Amino acid sequence: MMNDDQLLRYSRQIMLPQFDIAGQDKLLAANVLIIGAGGLGCPVAMYLGAAGVGSLTIVDDDQIDLSNLQRQIAHTTRDLGKEKVISLTETIHLINPDIHINAITTRLDEEALATQVQLADVLVDCTDNFPSRSLLNTLSVRYGKPLVSGAAIGFNGQVSVFNLTADSPCYACLYSDIDEQQLSCSESGVLAPLTGVIGSLQATEVIKIISGIGQPLSGRLLAYDGLTMDMHTLNLTKDPECDVCN
Ligand SMILES: [Zn+2]
Repeated sequence: MMNDDQLLRYSRQIMLPQFDIAGQDKLLAANVLIIGAGGLGCPVAMYLGAAGVGSLTIVDDDQIDLSNLQRQIAHTTRDLGKEKVISLTETIHLINPDIHINAITTRLDEEALATQVQLADVLVDCTDNFPSRSLLNTLSVRYGKPLVSGAAIGFNGQVSVFNLTADSPCYACLYSDIDEQQLSCSESGVLAPLTGVIGSLQATEVIKIISGIGQPLSGRLLAYDGLTMDMHTLNLTKDPECDVCN
């Protein structure tokens, strides 16, 4: 049962007829695993914390550098040198002190990450490198946990939901042939609000999956172009030859 403060804090969501008190109760009971506390991880975790996802587990072993502040909006100039996960946790707790946050400031090996995946209801990929994305996808398939994936480079971003059901495509169905030469924004640049757009879309998908409303981007990839403001979805199919999900 929510108390009066919670009913007021979440009132603008609860008054959405599709969402209602049942949706808010589901968010409060959920645990979301967020890998990465940078450009995508900041808006994802801040919105999920503000929206009332009861438990967030956030993993990142990096510290805040001056070049991060242009887009990693949970961190401030005062936080330079601090662990990103600690700074992000402090920001979320300023917004919503009721959220339980498991802040992990070390790089998890496969076994430790598998433990966190099993404890989570939804996984959110906010990393910027292919090996981490692949490992998270593999564990998502293995333990049957939906994976909300986002990427943002330059002026372009994309969002998709993998492994929502057993017959959903997985990340490797699309990207099994890409190797580590894929660019990340440390090499290629990114416009400040792009990560906010893509992170906000990822947070929307997480809330929809937990509360069971709408149509998540399962079997679809949303592509966003910030220069033209074109946004469209492409249909994805499961690769029968995929060596991760078959
Ligand atoms: Zn696959």
